[in-house]
Amino acid sequence: MKFWKFGEKNFVLDPDSLFWAVYEEGEDFEDLREKVAEKLLAKLNEFRFTVDVRTLYLNVIDDCNANCPYCYIPRERRRRKNVLSIRKIEEALEKFSDVENVIFHGAEPILAREIIFEVAETFDLEFGIQTNCIDVTEKDLNFFAEREFNVGVSLDAPKKEINDALRGKGHFEKAVNTLKVLSDYDCPRTSITTITKINAPYLAEMVEFLSDYVSVALMNPVRGTTEKARELRENPIKLAEKYIKAVERSIELTKEGKRIVIGDFANIVLGFIAPTSRVLQCDISPCGGGKLFVCLAPDGIYPCGEFLGFNEFRKDLEKIDPENPFPEMLERVVERIPECTECWAKHLCGSPCPAEIYSEGGSMFNKSYYCEFYKALAEHAARVIARDDEKYLIKTGKMRKVYSFS
Ligand code: SF4
Ligand code: SF4
Repeated sequence: MKFWKFGEKNFVLDPDSLFWAVYEEGEDFEDLREKVAEKLLAKLNEFRFTVDVRTLYLNVIDDCNANCPYCYIPRERRRRKNVLSIRKIEEALEKFSDVENVIFHGAEPILAREIIFEVAETFDLEFGIQTNCIDVTEKDLNFFAEREFNVGVSLDAPKKEINDALRGKGHFEKAVNTLKVLSDYDCPRTSITTITKINAPYLAEMVEFLSDYVSVALMNPVRGTTEKARELRENPIKLAEKYIKAVERSIELTKEGKRIVIGDFANIVLGFIAPTSRVLQCDISPCGGGKLFVCLAPDGIYPCGEFLGFNEFRKDLEKIDPENPFPEMLERVVERIPECTECWAKHLCGSPCPAEIYSEGGSMFNKSYYCEFYKALAEHAARVIARDDEKYLIKTGKMRKVYSFS
């Protein structure tokens, strides 16, 4: 059991079942825990181990118009400029017939816009795109707005010089302009910030800046899948301090009526409140890669885009089993990682990311470089819940109370 005292409030967490309670001194939560823990654990395990591929990432092209230093796609691969064929996409959608969401992804998908348009015209699915915006045109944005694409805009800092040092000259202006146009169209949109030691000091300011354009900002630390990306990783403890300041700023802004949520942190809060409805899939093990989504690239299929470039994780579409495309990913659980198995945060952290960890040591079964960061975030999520602020991060309206003291 993990116990905290936040001011006057006591908080207890059962790391195995994710039972938790905020309780008064002397109040007995143990009876309730005994009653519900088994059920909670069964639900959690069902959530963790059910394979249900509903999302298909389409890495439509290996080419990119930028050269971000932390890119997870190896440079040699980007130089090949290979493109996915419509035939392959059709084949994938036939095979993974439960797919409901298609997300066009990197390298830079807009460089293969004809394929995006054709797929969106042909299939009746939900679409999203992740773009650096450099070559996005007014016509593209009109199309995305009409089709209600969820557009993810990459932006790393609220200051041009910091952002462009990471993403290339001229990027800031393009990305901000795209956010403005999308806001005018009221098109579904999110921002995505990759955190390195260069932009980490500006996270709280970034939240403030983004609140003019988006209500959900995704902010996640760079995955060290390459040497260069590893050099750019912020120290996990320093990162946690800065990230928590950004979380607090987002809560203040939301209280002031300018709703902005850091999606990755909200997902951890959801890990406590409704663990099996978590949307993002990096903070649970096995993670969502190869379980809830797969990534189709020009040379084959991968559990997640972060594995691009690791040939040992590549499979041929023709041979893959859609019922369980990557059984090896299901084996990658915190219980098989020495320190994680004893950790109170194991089902709120998941020790991400297996691709990053594999790239460092040739095995997925090690703990995350960001371990202390995730622990600090999970503790802060408990603090936010103890002070009743979770409503500023997640929509609790449609949730059903499963257990309570009263
Ligand atoms: S933890 Fe890594 S491999 Fe898993 S879903 Fe997240 S980014 Fe992909
Ligand atoms: S990486 Fe660290 S915080 Fe995450 S489960 Fe493992 S020991 Fe816990």
